[in-house]
Amino acid sequence: MRILCAMLKHETNTFSPIPADLARFKDWGLHFGEDAARAYRDTAMPLAAYMKLAEAEGAEIVTPVAAEAMPSGPVTAAAYETLTGPILAAVEEGCDIALLDLHGAMVAEGTDDGEGTLLRRIREIAPDLPIAVTCDLHCNLTRAMVENCTALIGYKTYPHTDMYEVAEIVGRTVLDAVKGLADPVMAWGQVPLLSQTLCQGTDDEPMRSIVARCRDWEREAGIRAATVFGGFALADIEDSGTSAVVIADRSVVADGQTLAETARDDLLTRCWAARDAFIYKGRDLDAAVTAAKGYNDGPVILLDHADNCGSGATQDVMTVVAAVLRRNLQGAVVATVWDPAAVASMLAAGEGATVTLDLGGRTDMPSIGAVGRPLTVTGIVEKLCDGKFRVEGPMYTGVEIQCGPTALLRVATAGGGLVRIIVTSLHHEPWDAGVVRMVGIDPEKTRYILLKSRIHYRAGFGTLARHTLTLDGDGVTTSDNTRLAYRKVRRPIYPLDPQTEWEVGQ
Ligand SMILES: [Zn+2]
Repeated sequence: MRILCAMLKHETNTFSPIPADLARFKDWGLHFGEDAARAYRDTAMPLAAYMKLAEAEGAEIVTPVAAEAMPSGPVTAAAYETLTGPILAAVEEGCDIALLDLHGAMVAEGTDDGEGTLLRRIREIAPDLPIAVTCDLHCNLTRAMVENCTALIGYKTYPHTDMYEVAEIVGRTVLDAVKGLADPVMAWGQVPLLSQTLCQGTDDEPMRSIVARCRDWEREAGIRAATVFGGFALADIEDSGTSAVVIADRSVVADGQTLAETARDDLLTRCWAARDAFIYKGRDLDAAVTAAKGYNDGPVILLDHADNCGSGATQDVMTVVAAVLRRNLQGAVVATVWDPAAVASMLAAGEGATVTLDLGGRTDMPSIGAVGRPLTVTGIVEKLCDGKFRVEGPMYTGVEIQCGPTALLRVATAGGGLVRIIVTSLHHEPWDAGVVRMVGIDPEKTRYILLKSRIHYRAGFGTLARHTLTLDGDGVTTSDNTRLAYRKVRRPIYPLDPQTEWEVGQ
């Protein structure tokens, strides 16, 4: 048996000004052939689970590509062809099963449905090929995706810490189907809900209860997997939003429906009933910083969620950092500001030097009508490093992270505040504590940790947090829908159209 195992992931924020070209994939992870297997074998990623399953079958394993880029704007046509090409070529050469680790919210130049188009092309070459697919919780599920694979599953955790486990489930389902031990069928559907990622944490309501309900369904005989996708609202495409997919054994029918359809209807109904809780309600930035100053213990986690590069933001918007400096927070660490030019000047100055520089604000954001505005700061270059660390926390465990050349700038404010800012040369969402440890900072002893993150920070910092506050700044991951000009998403959709109606079966 010859089993194709591949990974191709990109979460596309169509409001992001950052292009997703091949260089963007190289920054995060771009591997072909044997190199792809080597890069992910000892990790907690779906690709590792797939390879282990294939090994257990004694199969020949082909790994044409493993590629992921930090979320950003649409994938360029050239990158899309370069990355999907090796998968299609491997299918052309012949394989018995494909086990694919995809994201589900990839938009490329020429297709708004990167995954659906890839799967359709695979099936055009090999119409009967059994295909297993894992998707991110932020997948925008489409008909093309479901109709061109055998079984599709999503993560149940946000932060995403169950990738390996879900890959095992869907991989086994397809292997069982090949052996004649299962006859999986999928039922899927969408609700007209543009849920915000900031409200999709699976430790919080409403996702906690909805995921628990998925697990209840999975305990029913005949159900293989039940998934609810929060969706990725920052992709302005027809199919953006919340959806569900259930894999069950074809044979189970009751009340004229397959069990998969019954479970799907139940899950979608629950998502719709909770729609209001999926929408973030903002608050005044200065009031939130004042509230942070009111706590007398720490660490206090502060979230600059509108500038989260893990969802396609530029990571160089200084609105929230400026507020923290203006309010003289004492003992704050900022992780992280993207500014390769500032890092270069700090490298030239050397550790211990006092520098005055324009920090951040390198990128314009035409989709929200904003231009990049740097912040002039004076501070001491406290530490310089190569920006590399290996993840020890529960998300992307074992994966080597590259933030590029990195500097720690220590800024003492006139009003007695002390803020240390980690400045990197590559975009990286700070979800693992390694990102502050790499510059010699102990997060547990830090009073305030300002993170350009939304929910993923919980993987590495959640257990340290005594208090957590969202700080509403600017950026292309804003949760303020009035700032985003949607053109392509199907209408009506909640909350853009507050009077939207939906009922099961629609
Ligand atoms: Zn995600």
